[in-house]
Amino acid sequence: MSLSFDPDSLSLPIGHFIGGELIATTDGIAMHRPSDAKAYADCPVADADLVDRAVDNAKAALKASNWGGVRPRERTKALQAWADLIEREAETLAKIEALSSTRPVGQLVAGDIAVTAEQIRFFAEFADKEGSDLVPTDDQTLGMIVSEPYGVVGAITPWNFPISMAGWKLGPALAAGNAVVIKPSEMTPFSTVYMAQLAVKAGIPAGLINVVLGDGPVTGNALTGHADIAKVSFTGSTRAGSAIMENIARTGVKPMTLELGGKSPQIVFADADIDKAAAAIAGSVIFNAGQACVAGTRLIIEKSVADRLVAAIVAQMKTVRPGPTWDETTQYSPIISERQRARIASIVDAAKAAGGECLTGGGLMAGEGYFFEPTLIANVDQMNPAIVEEIFGPVLTVQTFETEEEALARSSHPIYGLASGLFTKDLSRTIRFARKLEAGTVWVNRYSRSRDHILPTGGYKRSGIGKDLGREAYHANRKTKSVLISL
Ligand code: NAD
Repeated sequence: MSLSFDPDSLSLPIGHFIGGELIATTDGIAMHRPSDAKAYADCPVADADLVDRAVDNAKAALKASNWGGVRPRERTKALQAWADLIEREAETLAKIEALSSTRPVGQLVAGDIAVTAEQIRFFAEFADKEGSDLVPTDDQTLGMIVSEPYGVVGAITPWNFPISMAGWKLGPALAAGNAVVIKPSEMTPFSTVYMAQLAVKAGIPAGLINVVLGDGPVTGNALTGHADIAKVSFTGSTRAGSAIMENIARTGVKPMTLELGGKSPQIVFADADIDKAAAAIAGSVIFNAGQACVAGTRLIIEKSVADRLVAAIVAQMKTVRPGPTWDETTQYSPIISERQRARIASIVDAAKAAGGECLTGGGLMAGEGYFFEPTLIANVDQMNPAIVEEIFGPVLTVQTFETEEEALARSSHPIYGLASGLFTKDLSRTIRFARKLEAGTVWVNRYSRSRDHILPTGGYKRSGIGKDLGREAYHANRKTKSVLISL
């Protein structure tokens, strides 16, 4: 069975999804396919009234279904049924995703979709295993820590891994007994709508997942500032994260989880397995054409092995072949938009103008789509925008070091601290260094594409507040109340 498909004949669920109904609208933000630049749909934009309707509907659904108060195992079973249906409908979901996004259809079924189904099952299991607690007090008092859902959670997701990001938000929030109003990116909204439709088909009460489509300034702002949104869960840029904090501060006070940008270093010591390091490092920039928050885009190598490692990475970067996301054999993704590709090109050009040397790549790829060559830039100083800015493309910079102190100084970023890679066989250095790195995730002798969902993920510094995945993500969707009963 082939997953390749004709992009002109795919039917898409275009519309907001509220109370189990698709609310179709025809106009909105023009959308272009990254693989061939063709305009194919408009993304509807929900105004404040429609966001209000979605939130009201979610509140009503919570009340009617008693989702937060049912025997928790009922939530587990409903979420498991949803995960099963996502897997059964993986082919359709993959095609919807591949059409709008940068994710090749051949990577989705066994990749993003299978992993998302597994993560939903992981969170489903928390529902009846983590809860209220009795606490030791004196013998005249019964102390309890009561754990409760928030109510309606507002979630906002980016365009780079739309299905995965929707799963990260919806899985723990629903397992914890909340309803969710989710706003996917205006560039990739339809896979989230389809996931919500599958949730209703799987038996999750209609209204517990409402999807509002639109951009940040109109729809996103109305959602994060809504008085009945009890908690905000956001993944996107640090710039938008700041705007959301500001909006929340202006409109009220509520907890928030923010998963934001990064500019992650990969540090390679001379004793590392250089071939394995080269494969992991090149892979992290080639995968999704570097459009991953954790992409390891700053390479910092011990001088004695720099030439060998750089040659091995360049060789791998030169092998990529671009292709449309609807072709099952495609491995190398386009950039999400013309605008984003132009931004990548301007940072690379500025680095070259400042004396940077492109050891491979550096330009647009021929063809209709928004493809950009895997690029490796040397000879740029620590304050060059190529090293400081989150480029969100297939661009790797390389610097060298001679001492551990130098490596540590180079790896530190003025604002970001999302992830780091460390390649060495020296165990005591691994532990010493991993402790010193300012990052929410440290990968050693690997640079992960798929994460283990048992481990929480999130940023240090301005890369975020709070965690997705892991036990922490479940608890971030519950609030606690202390009860003291005099006996
Ligand atoms: P973005 O910040 O432009 O948009 C993300 C989402 O926020 C979109 O749905 C957008 O419509 C919405 N939005 C924008 N401004 C808003 C506002 N003022 N109020 C409410 N909503 C608003 O980011 P993007 O370009 O879609 O995604 C790329 C960014 O996401 C990168 O910075 C990347 O590092 C980050 N990201 C982080 C993680 C993580 O786990 N830390 C994961 C994936 C992506």
